[in-house]
Amino acid sequence: MKSIDDLKDFTGKRVLIRCDFNVPLQGDQITDDGRIRAALPTLTALRKGGARIVIMAHMGRPDGEVNMKYSLAPVAKRLGELMGVEVALAGDVVGDSATATVAALGDGDIALLENVRFEPGEASKDDAERYKLAQKYAQLGDIFVSDGFGVVHRKQASVYDVAKLLPAYSGYLVQAEVDVLRKLTVEPERPYVVILGGAKVADKLAVIDNLLKVADTLIIGGGMSYTFMKAQGYEIGKSLLDETKLDDCSGYIKQAEATGKKLLLPVDALTVGENAVDFSTFTLGGDIVETDMTALPSDRVGCDIGEKSAELFASEIAGAKTVFWNGPMGIFEIDSLAQGTKAIAKALVDSDAFSVVGGGDSAAAVRVFGYEDSQFGHISTGGGASLEYLEGKELPGLAVLEEA
Ligand code: AMP
Repeated sequence: MKSIDDLKDFTGKRVLIRCDFNVPLQGDQITDDGRIRAALPTLTALRKGGARIVIMAHMGRPDGEVNMKYSLAPVAKRLGELMGVEVALAGDVVGDSATATVAALGDGDIALLENVRFEPGEASKDDAERYKLAQKYAQLGDIFVSDGFGVVHRKQASVYDVAKLLPAYSGYLVQAEVDVLRKLTVEPERPYVVILGGAKVADKLAVIDNLLKVADTLIIGGGMSYTFMKAQGYEIGKSLLDETKLDDCSGYIKQAEATGKKLLLPVDALTVGENAVDFSTFTLGGDIVETDMTALPSDRVGCDIGEKSAELFASEIAGAKTVFWNGPMGIFEIDSLAQGTKAIAKALVDSDAFSVVGGGDSAAAVRVFGYEDSQFGHISTGGGASLEYLEGKELPGLAVLEEA
């Protein structure tokens, strides 16, 4: 991959850059600006180098239609505050307003195009339609910089196709994320412990498959652990279950045994009554009972790992040299069911290992728990992208930069 460091002087050049500014919003207030901050090193370097910066980004899923609920206006404002300059927001993506906004840029100025997902071509499955839009993007820049790590697993016009039309370079964020992921897949310092959690076991099968080959210990918690328990014949009550994946889970347990890997599952759980959790408001009605995983009552739902599991997992992390974590251990949105997830976050902070938090819910959780990003080796800005990388998949947005 060619990096922006290979260029340095951008004076007078229009640099079209893809960023991931898909931040969480409450109304028009940004509740976590981590993704905007993550882009600052690249944007600052471009500005210092005299570039005329044209940013492409998306927000939510407006599905190819203009819907101002998904406008990037809050992002333009916040980015301007963080950079200490005015960020000009175009009124459209590739229309007259975008053209005029870009034409008005001086050296070091920054413009943000409106949400690229307002354009039906952006995420189209039709190669020709995507390419047509990418040609319009390419008219707004002289070179392309890819720095939206959270979207590099998407074959979309502003991520993939445009990189074929302009000289293409990676930004500092993409480089940093790829360096970390490479460390996790090529000769990680051992012992290497991977902790996976979250609700859907189906989403994580490919990553389990690939990481069982490289990790020394695989810890599985959260809702997905119950399918593994059921696969071994245990009663899991009304806990989350994916019946279609029982054979896969048995297979991984056998594979771990056969290859001398440790596969750890929870030994106890915090359980609640059926329907006690309201997922629309994340509130809990009813009591919490802690039980051994092998004695889960048939009418209860496991919603967090218990204390013994938390200790077991934390001691495994304490002995590790490399740790990768993705997915909460329980319904962490409810404080009384966030204990297991908190214990894992603390274990990562306390450990001397190179610790990587793999984006998404786990990244949000550690910030909600009050930890600073600097207390971890690395917090990824892209949950989906980092998991796909660890699955061993080719990420279109990276492959196209390597070809460039
Ligand atoms: P995922 O998107 O698969 O990473 O799952 C994240 C979600 O899993 C979070 O919203 C958690 O509330 C949820 N979750 C974690 N553990 C459980 C559990 N034991 N039962 C139900 N949901 C869970």
